[in-house]
Amino acid sequence: MESYDVIVCGGGAAGIGAAVGAAQSGARVALLERYGFLGGAATNSQVLSYCGFYQCDARGDRAIGGVGYQVLLELAKLGENIQPHLSELTGNRIILLDPEKLKYALDQVVLSHRVELFLHTTLVDVKKQGSHLEVIDLVGLFQQRSLSGTAFVDATGNGQLAKFVGLPCILNQQEQPLQSMSLPIRLGGLAKYLIIDREAIKVAVELYNRQAVHPIPRQDGGVFMRVPNSNDWLWMIVDLGLNDVQEELVTKAEWLGRKIAHDLVEVLRAEVAGFENCHIVNTGPQIGIRQAWCPEAQYALKREDLQIGRKFDSGIARAAWPMEDHSKPGKPSYHPIGGAGYGLIPLESLSTKIPHLWLAGRTIGADAAAYGSIRVMGTSFATGQAAGVAAALFAQQGEPPQSHQVIADLKAQSALV
Ligand SMILES: Cc1cc2nc3c(=O)[nH]c(=O)nc-3n(C[C@H](O)[C@H](O)[C@H](O)COP(=O)(O)OP(=O)(O)OC[C@H]3O[C@@H](n4cnc5c(N)ncnc54)[C@H](O)[C@@H]3O)c2cc1C
Repeated sequence: MESYDVIVCGGGAAGIGAAVGAAQSGARVALLERYGFLGGAATNSQVLSYCGFYQCDARGDRAIGGVGYQVLLELAKLGENIQPHLSELTGNRIILLDPEKLKYALDQVVLSHRVELFLHTTLVDVKKQGSHLEVIDLVGLFQQRSLSGTAFVDATGNGQLAKFVGLPCILNQQEQPLQSMSLPIRLGGLAKYLIIDREAIKVAVELYNRQAVHPIPRQDGGVFMRVPNSNDWLWMIVDLGLNDVQEELVTKAEWLGRKIAHDLVEVLRAEVAGFENCHIVNTGPQIGIRQAWCPEAQYALKREDLQIGRKFDSGIARAAWPMEDHSKPGKPSYHPIGGAGYGLIPLESLSTKIPHLWLAGRTIGADAAAYGSIRVMGTSFATGQAAGVAAALFAQQGEPPQSHQVIADLKAQSALV
C-alpha cells in the first residue's frame, strides 16, 4: 500500500490549498477527488466567481495570497482577467471564471508542486488502529484501493472523512435553516452585445410564478453574469430550501431544479426581447450545495468575531467576505465584516480532537452566521493551505504544530495572515 505524509480528501479550493500548502512545506502529498477534474463547486456546480479574495469595504485590499493567488496568476498566464469585478447587485468584489480555463489552471498549479493526484477517486471508508486513523479506502473508476497516511485533511465540503473517523458532525441548523441549494443555469443562444433588461426579466418571472407549482421566491430577477470568453450568461435564480441532505432530498432537488430551469427558460424565450433563441447550455454536473455536515472543530468562529474583525493570535487566514445569509430561498442578505475589513480565522477552527486530522474550506468550525463568510472559495483556498501546512508539520514532528509554526510557514509561502 502506498504511504503519504499528508492525504487530502476533496479537490475543491480548500483541497487544492491544502495539497499545495503541504507540498510546499516538504510533505509527500496525495490529493483525491471524486470527479475527473479539480475545482469543487466552481467546476462541478458552475459557481463561476471567486469571492473572498478582496475585501468588500471601501479599501478593497486583497485578503488572500499563497496558493489562491498562485491560481489567479496561472489564470492570468492563460489571458484571463483576474482583476476584481464589482458585482452590480451587491457592490461586492468578485473574480469571474471560465470553467475550462480554471480546470486547466488548477491542474497546472497542483501538478507543478508534485502533488500526487487521484481523480475519479472517492473516499468510501477508513481504517483505524484503535482510535487512530491510518488508512483510507477509495473507489476509483476501475478499482478499489487503500492509501495510508500520517496526517489527513478533510476538504470534502461535507465532512465525509470526519464522519467516517467518528467525529461528531452536525447540520448547523439550530440557529437558522440550512442555506438553500441553488441550480445555476448557463444560457446560450444570446446576442453578443446583449444588455440584460432586468425589468423585463422580473415581469417574465412573475408570469412564470402565476402558473407555477414551484414558484420562484426571488423578486429581483436573480443574478446574471456573463461567462468569460463566451456570449453565454449564467443565471442564478433557482433556489431550493431543504432542511436535510439525505440522498432522496438531494435527488429531488436535482430533478426539480432542472424542471424549474426548463420551464423558466421557456417563459424567457416567449416573453423577453433578445432571449428568443436562448437555450440551456448546462446545469451541472451537480446542483450547488451550500451547506452540509459540519464536523466538530476545536473552536467555532462566531458572528461576533467577524462583526468586530477579531484578530486571533493564532489567526491563519483572513475572512473578508461579508456574512452572506441564504437561509431563506431567494435574495440573500449581507452583513459586513468589522474592524479593518477582515477577521482572522484561528487555527483552532481547523483542528479537531483527532490530533492528525484537520478541516479545511466550508467544513471548518463556524456558527451559522460566520459560515456565510468563511465558506467562499477565496477563503477556502486560505484555510486549506493552513490545514495542509499544519498536517505537513505534524508529519515532520509527530505532534500537532503550534500556531506560530504554521503562521511562519504560511508567511514563507506568501499567504496573507
Ligand atoms: C449555488 C452556490 C453559489 C455559490 N456562490 C459562490 C460564489 O459566487 N463565490 C464563492 O467564492 N463561493 C460561492 N459559493 C460557496 C463555495 O462554492 C463553497 O463554499 C466552496 O466551494 C467551498 O470550497 P471547498 O473546497 O470547501 O468545497 P467544495 O468546493 O465543495 O469542494 C469539495 C470537493 O470534494 C470532493 N469530494 C466530496 N466528497 C468526496 C469524497 N468522498 N471523495 C472524494 N472527493 C470528494 C467534491 O467532489 C469537491 O470537488 C457558492 C456555493 C453554492 C452552492
